[in-house]
Amino acid sequence: MSLALMNLSLARAHLDRAAHLRTDEAALDSLFASGKVFQVHKGKFLFTQTLHWLDPALAPEGERYFLGLDGSGTGYFAINAPFAEDAAITENLQTLREVGLVATEIEIGAAVHAVALANWHDTHTHCARCGAHTYSALAGSVRKCRTDESEHYPRTDSAVIVLVRDAQNRILLGRQKVWPPKRYSNFAGFLEPGESLEACVKREVLEEAGVRISEIEYLGSQPWPFPASIMLAFTGVVENPEDARADGEEIEDLRWYSREKLTEDLESGELLVPPGISIARRMIEAWYGGSIDFPEAWR
Ligand SMILES: [Zn+2]
Repeated sequence: MSLALMNLSLARAHLDRAAHLRTDEAALDSLFASGKVFQVHKGKFLFTQTLHWLDPALAPEGERYFLGLDGSGTGYFAINAPFAEDAAITENLQTLREVGLVATEIEIGAAVHAVALANWHDTHTHCARCGAHTYSALAGSVRKCRTDESEHYPRTDSAVIVLVRDAQNRILLGRQKVWPPKRYSNFAGFLEPGESLEACVKREVLEEAGVRISEIEYLGSQPWPFPASIMLAFTGVVENPEDARADGEEIEDLRWYSREKLTEDLESGELLVPPGISIARRMIEAWYGGSIDFPEAWR
């Protein structure tokens, strides 16, 4: 059985990023004038059934990010600027968590790219070398220092998430203290400097659940710009299942699940699984062998 993850909700990007155009301001201005433009601010954008496209001529002042081209050569742009304090607008502001399952490939790709970029720009207003102000350059793909002209590129934080199985094909799920009651999920954590992904996978599972895993396989990835991560999914098989124990710090409880037990606990409400847009949910479903249509623990 393949556990490979396809069509993850936030990984459905469909635009050609056309990076060669980032240096061509005349071409970008021309694309913008007839392009698809939307506003983004602090993880939010206007969305009611569809993403709200602005008339480019009436777009607000703000940082302009070039997101790419669609198959017909139309340019896509985001403007990072605060929304007007207007109830008709604020009540229709949405986040990726809310639209991740319903937006089209074009919409979700543009929105994920724009939110991730805006999150980075908003928090990198000063040069890490000299402390002077930075400005957005190359269509939003870089920031430059006003004083020393050093270039600063967007960073993405790598996080691994692991579907832990045993020889009987049970899975091990853990519960974080900060989660709503009865919610359990896979083990996850950030890659540390100088660490390989494989070492990180083993370390996180050992730290949180006390077990050593081998037969590590890569399953897929999904951008997770809350505010700046990518989730890299792996699976591994436990060598010492009898040693499983929660670390008592981040993880307060562990449960082993067979498919039968998972069905039983979902039906009785004894188990709540992560939301539909999360890679964790999709990992559990890939192992389960189908979608899990039960109430979600959180959005
Ligand atoms: Zn500087």
